[in-house]
Amino acid sequence: MTTQRIRDFLATRRPDGPCLVVDLDVVRDNFHAFRHSMPDSAIYYAVKANPAPEVLRLLASLGSNFDCASVAEIEMALDAGATADRISYGNTIKKERDIARAHAHGINLFAVDSHEEVEKISRAAPGARVFCRVLTDGEGAEWPLSRKFGCVPQMAVDVLVYAHQLGLESYGVSFHVGSQMTKVDAWDSALADAKRVFVSLAKQGIHLQMVNMGGGFPTKYLRDIPSAEAYGKAIFASLRAHFGNQIPHTIIEPGRGMVGNAGVIKAEVVLISKKSDNDDARWVFLDIGKFGGLAETMDEAIRYPIRTERDGDEMEPCVIAGPTCDSADVLYEKNLYPLPVSLTIGDEVLIEGTGAYTTTYSAVAFNGFDPLKAYII
Ligand SMILES: *Cc1c(COP(=O)(O)O)cnc(C)c1O
Repeated sequence: MTTQRIRDFLATRRPDGPCLVVDLDVVRDNFHAFRHSMPDSAIYYAVKANPAPEVLRLLASLGSNFDCASVAEIEMALDAGATADRISYGNTIKKERDIARAHAHGINLFAVDSHEEVEKISRAAPGARVFCRVLTDGEGAEWPLSRKFGCVPQMAVDVLVYAHQLGLESYGVSFHVGSQMTKVDAWDSALADAKRVFVSLAKQGIHLQMVNMGGGFPTKYLRDIPSAEAYGKAIFASLRAHFGNQIPHTIIEPGRGMVGNAGVIKAEVVLISKKSDNDDARWVFLDIGKFGGLAETMDEAIRYPIRTERDGDEMEPCVIAGPTCDSADVLYEKNLYPLPVSLTIGDEVLIEGTGAYTTTYSAVAFNGFDPLKAYII
């Protein structure tokens, strides 16, 4: 959503070139909505969604914890004012020397999904807390996470027993239902799996304490999404159903849902053309594309709202593409995107819902284009 603050910023500063503007007031509202709708869950912001120092400082001051995927992200969270006890190292794929560096920073909470990773942690961070990630099917997510992370629940039991044997604290289970999850009940089957892991381990005298319910909370793009309250209610009902009155500590790790709707990209129409005189669809080339930060248009997965100053005019379906010399740099073609017939070269467009997963996906200098600039206001 383009807030008045973002409009005023763009109108007065007139930044040249494509840029992202993030309104911190929206991030603050999102944090409070999560806090309010899931009051018993600790919030670990997924730093990778938008690691801008201003965003991290705001969230640290509001009391957020941080889920980090690398030592660099851990150091950013520390610099923003978070203490080590508020940071998890949630990537299941870590170099042993990075685990050691994180441990030296005081980090004591690590994700695993294999025996091999448990061995690394037992050597590089002896005695640390670990949680094991279980696979989910990603069904219903618009940006699913596939099979790359997590193991089947039965293996999670073995991994956590092994961690215990190696002197680590087997602390819990994690999962991620898939990003941009628009079904509020998607957490249910993963929580059922988590409960089964708890029961199996309890039989072996190991008492897990925590379920990390990951991210997946959506941002509104073109379609409406359920409210944070709706997610909170559905998740709490599932926790009750599966854990009864012994609900463990829970963590959520919102990334997209914390910052996505706080950002807007200002872009410019560079060219509008056709491929032949009788081509049905015009090609609209923007000064930003897949390599400038809009990587999540891959397979046309994420469909951003695009606003122009001519939105009241007659619309027609267009191909939208980026400015680079790579033929993959097409945003929407299979599913044409309606834009005003009157749209003209030089017009500015606003690409909404771009606060998450844009600046960090932007290439360094592909074709000489600068990485996406960001203004955090
Ligand atoms: C990326 C990621 C998140 C954030 O996911 P969103 O769908 O953006 O909320 C949370 N947890 C882990 C482990 C992640 O890798």
